[in-house]
Parts: sequence; C-alpha cells; structure tokens
Amino acid sequence: MEDVIVVIGGGPAGMEAALSLAGRGHKVYIVEKTNALGGHLARWDRLFPQQDPAQEILNDMLAGIKNADDKIEVICNAQVQSVKKRMRGLEVMLSNQKMILADAVLVCCGFDLFRAERKEEYGYGIYDNVLTSADLEERFKHKKVLCADGRVPEKVAFVHCVGSRDEKVDHTYCSKVCCVTAVKQACEIKELYPQAEVFNLYMDLRMFDRYFEQMYHKAQSHYGVHFVRGRLSEVSETADGRLQIKTEDTLLGRPMKITVDMLVLMVGMQACAQTEELSEKLDLKVSASDHFFETKDLFLKGNYAHTKGIFLAGACTGPKSLPDTLQDARSAAESIHRYLTA
Ligand code: SF4
Repeated sequence: MEDVIVVIGGGPAGMEAALSLAGRGHKVYIVEKTNALGGHLARWDRLFPQQDPAQEILNDMLAGIKNADDKIEVICNAQVQSVKKRMRGLEVMLSNQKMILADAVLVCCGFDLFRAERKEEYGYGIYDNVLTSADLEERFKHKKVLCADGRVPEKVAFVHCVGSRDEKVDHTYCSKVCCVTAVKQACEIKELYPQAEVFNLYMDLRMFDRYFEQMYHKAQSHYGVHFVRGRLSEVSETADGRLQIKTEDTLLGRPMKITVDMLVLMVGMQACAQTEELSEKLDLKVSASDHFFETKDLFLKGNYAHTKGIFLAGACTGPKSLPDTLQDARSAAESIHRYLTA
C-alpha cells in the first residue's frame, strides 16, 4: 500500500515537497487555505539575482503537479482542523469534513509579510506614495509604477529593515532577503526611469549569497543608485503630495533631509498567522525568540518537528530565499521518505 503524506500549505515549499514525494512514489494531499496554489510567489514579478520571471517558475511547478496524475491531490479552500495519533499514522481532519489517514504530515505554511502600518512613523496607509516592497512588486508585475497622482517618480527611496532587526516590534532577527530585494527593485526603477534618483537607506547590507555582491556593485556603478547608511526617523507629506524623509547618514555623522516622490518600505518576514493554531493542533514547538516553528535540531534533523511523523519545511521555520526554500522542501521530502521506508 502506498504511503500517504498531507502537506499543509500550497506555496513553493509545499509544491516542491509534494513533487519530490510523488516522484518517490508516495501519495500526497496538498491542503491550501486559499483558492489557488503559489503563495507569495504568485504575486511576485521578477526574482533576484538574475531577474527570472516568477510566473515561469510557478508555471513549471504547477505543470509538474498537473502531470503527477493521481499522485498529488490539491485541496484548496481548506484548513486542517485536527490531527489525531492512530495506531499507525495520523488522522487528519480538514475544515471541509474530509478525513485523511496519513503516514506523515509536512507543515509548509510559509510566512506573512510584516504589516507596515505598525511602524506608524513611516506613514504607510497614511500617505499615498508610501508603498511596501510587495506593493511595488505588484506594480512591476502590472507594468504600472507611478505616483498616486499619475506622475512618473523622479526620486525614490527604499528603507531597509522595516519590521526586522527591530526590538520595538519584537522582531530582532534579520529577514535575509530584503537587502537583495531592495537592490533588485532599485535597479528595476532605474531601468524603467533612467533619470530617476534612487536612494537605499540601510543599516547593514547583507548581500551574502551567490551573485548578490555583484548586484550591489552593478546598482552603484551601472545604475547610479545611492546607498546611505542610516535609519529613517520620520516621514511627512509636503503640500504637493511628495514625502520629506529625515534620516542620519551614520557614516558621515550628519543629519539628512530628502524629498522624494515615492518611499518603499522593505517589509520583513514574520511567522504566519496560523503558527500558534497549528502548534496547538499538531503539538509543535515555537521559538520564543523569533516565533517561527522550531525543528528538532539545526543539523541532521533540520526538517523534523519534535512530534513523531510531523515535518517542517520552508519559511515556517525562519526567513528563507526562494532557492533555499525549494532546497529545504526537497530535503524535507528526503527526510520523510527515509522515515517511511526505515
Ligand atoms: S536582509 Fe537587510 S533589510 Fe532585511 S532585515 Fe536583514 S539587514 Fe535588514
């Protein structure tokens, strides 16, 4: 009899893990709370570091799932209601009253973006020309990057570390991907509007992965993006709907005031809204320091939860880039396969 795995979450981690498990001959149910697969990837335009279209990656994965025949069943608009231990495996009850007898459960519920309204001093939701990085990405996707009154932006500033590395919002961790996303988006603004002046206000630049450092150098040497080390202190709107931002250049040790047409807040990742609920239903541990799920260890059992038969993958265990998420999903599939065939 084939083994059955329930994957909770139909974002990139859930899809990639399902494909890997189906490829090993297991039956997989993907339980997705929204009406479609894709997660945050479905709302993204192009991906760092080489500007691949997000839709192409998503289409490849969706085609793989479609071609997996009856090995992968997708259940949308559903959530896990309860998980009970049985003599063999787990009884998973869904919100649509479907019951699945599973040999393993893989949690891939992903992350939520930090709600920028919480940093009231940055003016998100108050001033029309303050956007988040996700809002800007959606505008890139729809090829419409304009100010609220329809003007082409002449000056744009990106603010790093919004909702990350910030004790005031209880997120002291780094979200890993927002520095490189800010550099990518700054270059894209310059590609669209070569005359625009673009500023990146950062605390530290964490360009740690392959090709990231080259992107950063190209942003300066080819596109002329300005990098200013300093934390934004205040944003206010001018009479003509522009934004005056106050910061301090901490390298030069002097205060700065810039008036820009558009301000982009690089919102970080936070544990998804279902983390607490799932931790109770599946008896999972949550880290007291960053509120993401804890794995059994960080080395050899990096995809094992503390509960037998339950596994974890993707950004539900902490911020990850898309390549790292996909790699983690494949690693989780391998761990599950070993567990089931031991
Ligand atoms: S990746 Fe950069 S912007 Fe994001 S939290 Fe880390 S240091 Fe801040």
